[in-house]
Amino acid sequence: MSVLEHVRASSITRTLNIIGDRWTIIILRDAFLGVTRFRDWQSKNNIARSILINRLNKLVEVGCFKKVLYQDRPKRYEYQLTDMGKALYPIAALIWAWEDKWFARAEDVPVRLIHKSCGHAIHPELKCDVCNEFITIHNVTYKDGPGVGLDCQVAPRHQRRSRISSKNKDDVMMIERAADIIGDRWSNLTLSAAYLGIRRFDDIQNELKIATNILSNRLVHLVESEVLSKCLYSEKPARYEYRLTEKGRALFPVMVAMMTWGDDWLCDDRGVPFILVHRECGKESHPVVKCSHCHEVLLSSEVEFLFD
Ligand SMILES: [Zn+2]
Ligand SMILES: [Zn+2]
Repeated sequence: MSVLEHVRASSITRTLNIIGDRWTIIILRDAFLGVTRFRDWQSKNNIARSILINRLNKLVEVGCFKKVLYQDRPKRYEYQLTDMGKALYPIAALIWAWEDKWFARAEDVPVRLIHKSCGHAIHPELKCDVCNEFITIHNVTYKDGPGVGLDCQVAPRHQRRSRISSKNKDDVMMIERAADIIGDRWSNLTLSAAYLGIRRFDDIQNELKIATNILSNRLVHLVESEVLSKCLYSEKPARYEYRLTEKGRALFPVMVAMMTWGDDWLCDDRGVPFILVHRECGKESHPVVKCSHCHEVLLSSEVEFLFD
C-alpha cells in the first residue's frame, strides 16, 4: 500500500465519513457551546431546514447525539451529546486554538477557554500519553496496526461542497474557517498528503486518484487559506510544488485528534488500522489533549468558552 492509501484507510477517513462536512462541524460546535434545540441551530446559522434535519439525524444515527423528549404537547425533542459526541470536544478545542492564533477574531468568537478544574484561561495542547511531550508534525511516524487495510467505506460522497468564501468574511464564526478545510474530504486528503511530504501536483494526483480539476480547485483554496504555499521548483518548464506553511503545520494536531477519535470510536475488535509512533519517546502513542496550565486531560464538562 502507498502511504496515502494508508491515510485513506486510516481512522482520519473514518472520522471524515462522520464529521467531514462543513455543516456537521458547525452543528457540533454549537452543541459544545450549549445548543440542543432545532430552532436555536436554525436561528444561529443560516442553514436550510432540510440540511439541518439531515445532519442532526445523521449525528443521532452514528451515535454522537441522542434525541431526548423535552416537551409532551406538542412533542418536542432536543439533541444531547453522547459520550461519543463529547469525545469530539478535543478536536473542537484544538480548532479553536488554531483559529485564535491564525485569524483576526470575529466578534462572536469566544476569547478565552477556561479550564474549570484549575480555574485558568488555557490553551489546549496535544500531548503524547506516554511521555507527556508535544505531538507535532516533526516528531511522529506511523506503522501498520492490526486493522490495516480493512474496509472503511471510503466511497466518495456525491455532495456539493459549500464554501464560506461567498460569505462576508467578517461574519465567519468560530470553527467555520477550519471547517471549510477539514470539513471537505478532498481538501483534507490533500492536506494529509502534504503532511506526508507529498508536494507535487502529479504525485498528489497519483496518490489520491483525484480528478485534475478537483485537485486544482482544492489546491487553490488551500493556498488562499494560507495553509499551503505554491513554490516554483523548476524554471523550464515552470513547475510548482505545494509546501506547508507554518499555519498549515499548526493544523496537524487537529488531524491527529481526528485520527485518535476514529481509533477510539470507529474501530471494531480487529483493532486500529494505523499506529502513531512518537519519536520523542519511541513508543506507540495515543495522543490526548491537555490543559496548558495544569496538564490534566481536557474534558468537555470541565471546560467553558468565555466571551467578552
Ligand atoms: Zn511520547
Ligand atoms: Zn487546567
